[in-house]
Amino acid sequence: MKVAVVKETAPGERRVALVPEAVAKLRAAGLEVLVETGAGDSAWLSDDAYTEAGAGITARDELVAGADVIVTVGRPDDQVIAGLRPGQAVLGMLAPLGDPGFAQRLAEAGVTAVSLDLIPRTLPRAQSMDALTSQANIAGYKAAIVAAGAFGRFFPLLITAAGTARPARVLVLGTGVAGLQAIGTARRLGAVVSAYDVRPETRTEVESLGATFIELTSVGPAGGEGGYARALTDEERQAQQDELASHIAKHDVVITTAQVPGRRPPLLVTADALKWMAAGSVVVDMGASALGGNVEGSRPEETVVTENGVTIIGAGRLPSTMPAAASAMYARNVSALLLYLVKDDSLAVDLDDDLQRGVVITYEGQVVHPALSDSAGGTARVDGAAH
Ligand code: NAD
Repeated sequence: MKVAVVKETAPGERRVALVPEAVAKLRAAGLEVLVETGAGDSAWLSDDAYTEAGAGITARDELVAGADVIVTVGRPDDQVIAGLRPGQAVLGMLAPLGDPGFAQRLAEAGVTAVSLDLIPRTLPRAQSMDALTSQANIAGYKAAIVAAGAFGRFFPLLITAAGTARPARVLVLGTGVAGLQAIGTARRLGAVVSAYDVRPETRTEVESLGATFIELTSVGPAGGEGGYARALTDEERQAQQDELASHIAKHDVVITTAQVPGRRPPLLVTADALKWMAAGSVVVDMGASALGGNVEGSRPEETVVTENGVTIIGAGRLPSTMPAAASAMYARNVSALLLYLVKDDSLAVDLDDDLQRGVVITYEGQVVHPALSDSAGGTARVDGAAH
């Protein structure tokens, strides 16, 4: 069975789906691995390193034509999709929710599509395959580093002969995987950290990292299914934004990580809240996307400075800025899932298996994932009303 690694072509994407260490592991399990020329270049992984691990280095057309399974980080580009043939499989973070047309296109091409970002995260046997978690850990870490880099003062308390610098006050909004990692990193840098999440059950984790959990009096608990948050009502959203603004004003640095599955990120930091922040404050918006982020006025992959001197960093693609670590962790997720799916040298799809039912989106010409199989895209459509 031939597993093929294509070079990612999305703007700013520096990760690669398999690193040489993972290639060696798959080779040991009896799989053949083909890697597109230069696929690991942006993560400092040379073609030679892949060859030494047992991969064949091949040009794109030949690679796509010869592969049984194509592994990717993000969605394969149009050129790869156009070259696919029935019976082939694609495995990567395909982000199919919110875009039923994409899955339909793969189904019509007779391609088996496996989306790592849909892995059922609460299944213990799926934890080694949980790419959302591995990449969110990286993003959370890097968000704190980016914030510290842009902040014109120290994060830690510093006592020197020239005087004392007070520690930075950092607020983390959203305390899932990324938020907790941002808290831990900011704490290790010496900041005084507070955090808020609409799921109050995260309080214990926040406190165990040495941060203070902020409770809002105007918004009740809003936990949804599977440990995720639900979208707030318009009234709740307004109350949350208003109450958060007074907390935001007391902090030097705000890192936002809030997400609601299948919807655009909730707006937590309004233009008014930004106006109340002191000049020199830094806001890192990990939700920044073309649809809007957690912070009003943030722009994806751009830094904006407000009239009152607040730096807003749109940081929705942080894992790509640490391509070596992100690729190494992602490659472990990919190889764990591949080895789980492969039986007797082929992909053994079994939709009775709860893990597979979670990740397989197309099979034998059909869209089979429950969240996509109704024509409206199930509960998974990106809902523009979430702001
Ligand atoms: P996520 O990326 O979906 O969201 C990040 C955080 O934003 C969440 O904590 C969410 O509650 C918060 N949020 C959403 N709307 C908000 C709002 N309006 N105001 C404030 N905060 C808001 O979350 P995630 O990091 O993917 O984690 C989701 C859940 O999955 C968590 O419960 C986590 O513990 C769980 N999880 C479990 C496992 C496992 O069991 N192995 C692995 C990974 C994650």
